[in-house]
Amino acid sequence: MRREKRKLPIFDIILTSLTLILIAASAYLLYLYKSSSTAAHDDSSALDQVTSTIDETNSNFKGIKIISEISNDKNVPFAIQYPQSSHTEFNDKVKKYIKKIKHDYLTNLATHKQKQSEFTNELNISFETFAHPNGTYSFVFLSNQHIQDYLKETDIYTVHLNNDKGKMLTLKELVNNPEESLQRLSKLTKQQIENDETLQSMRLEEIEQYTKPVWENFEHFIFTEEALVLYLPYDKNKNNIPIIPLSYDKINDLLVDDYKVQVKEESENETPSKDDNTSKESDANAPDSNENPSNESTKDELDSAKKVALTFDDGPDPEVTTRILKTLEKYDAKATFFMLGSRVEYYPEIAKMVEEAGHELGNHSWTHPDLTRASTEKIYNEISRTSQIIEEVTGEKPYSFRPPYGAFNDSVRQQTDLPIALWDVDTLDWKHRNPQQLLSHVQNGVKDGSVILMHDIHASTADGLDAVMAYLQENGYTFVTFSEIEQQ
Ligand code: ZN
Repeated sequence: MRREKRKLPIFDIILTSLTLILIAASAYLLYLYKSSSTAAHDDSSALDQVTSTIDETNSNFKGIKIISEISNDKNVPFAIQYPQSSHTEFNDKVKKYIKKIKHDYLTNLATHKQKQSEFTNELNISFETFAHPNGTYSFVFLSNQHIQDYLKETDIYTVHLNNDKGKMLTLKELVNNPEESLQRLSKLTKQQIENDETLQSMRLEEIEQYTKPVWENFEHFIFTEEALVLYLPYDKNKNNIPIIPLSYDKINDLLVDDYKVQVKEESENETPSKDDNTSKESDANAPDSNENPSNESTKDELDSAKKVALTFDDGPDPEVTTRILKTLEKYDAKATFFMLGSRVEYYPEIAKMVEEAGHELGNHSWTHPDLTRASTEKIYNEISRTSQIIEEVTGEKPYSFRPPYGAFNDSVRQQTDLPIALWDVDTLDWKHRNPQQLLSHVQNGVKDGSVILMHDIHASTADGLDAVMAYLQENGYTFVTFSEIEQQ
């Protein structure tokens, strides 16, 4: 009894302080949630609603669309991309995964105190789409999370989908004799690790553990045109994810008939895109000759007029970009589109439409990462891969590079020859999603030579653009591209 009594005050103090900490933590968490949910307002509703509006005809991957959720909030920056289909079960599974990672990130942010520095946190979830020759899709998600210097986490996740049947499948369901196949997969995987130089740092017990013949070890896999690729379990704090490709000639006998792929000898004509390029180069000469046809006579007049460059980031998008193109056409205006390579891959026709309408193309990276914390190799890949697909799809090279979040440093500079394209008027359209506010940000910020930042993935931006353009026109501005401003 006595002891209890003596303990009580201490207990009280601990309890009280614990409660206070808890309240503070939850308040902060709530704040983060709020700011991130405003940041991702459309997207959280998109998270629930996308299922109904899959435009199969627009996507490069039939029946699949790509959703981009990007927050430029300096406290809670993230760029998340994920696929959706017309199948609820698949959509829910993907959204559940995204939600979990996002929740982790917000919780981690809340538990690590914020310093004053900018962009020391980041969440980036990207994915790649692979098609098996039989028409099924594999998606591999890569998520990177940074919380200042405290935490750096990588996560890999895969989903395999038969989109025609709306069924997700495990590897176990795609082999003939599960028990025997499991033993073979285990053996093949082990062999592959031993032959892979990049995996030499794996400890023996890790290899034993991760290649053990249990299905949990082979939970994450994709089917590409050439191979079954396994993503083995790994230590989340390490960068070295064991990725094991098993070519079809090694595993065909394990697979159900529909998944066997006959391996051809040497492929003779595997790069049709190269032929495309040559044909595009030749017709690229034609538009060159009639560049600025209307400008000539009034050149002096235009030079004295006020100029403004409208720029649109994070697209292309089948609905929003198309609507924006119509409004621009109404004003006979040219704008600049900073595209994400990942979205150009999904919507090549929309990217092409932008180019054909005479707008300037810009590069905005492949997955929208904060490049100031990326390796030089990653920086190079993000930019060059995006330039490549833009040129492949539209026949035009991007003129400039806009770094995600506007974040760049010398090492970003060194990885590209493209001019860096920043802005001076931020409409914050990603945050407020409000046509009225779009206009008032422009009204308050615009001056001669301004570059205005908008995003062609939000319907509210397409809604508000006409009023913005009417205002600018009434106030004597002419619409020019980013390069025309830059070259002044
Ligand atoms: Zn962006």
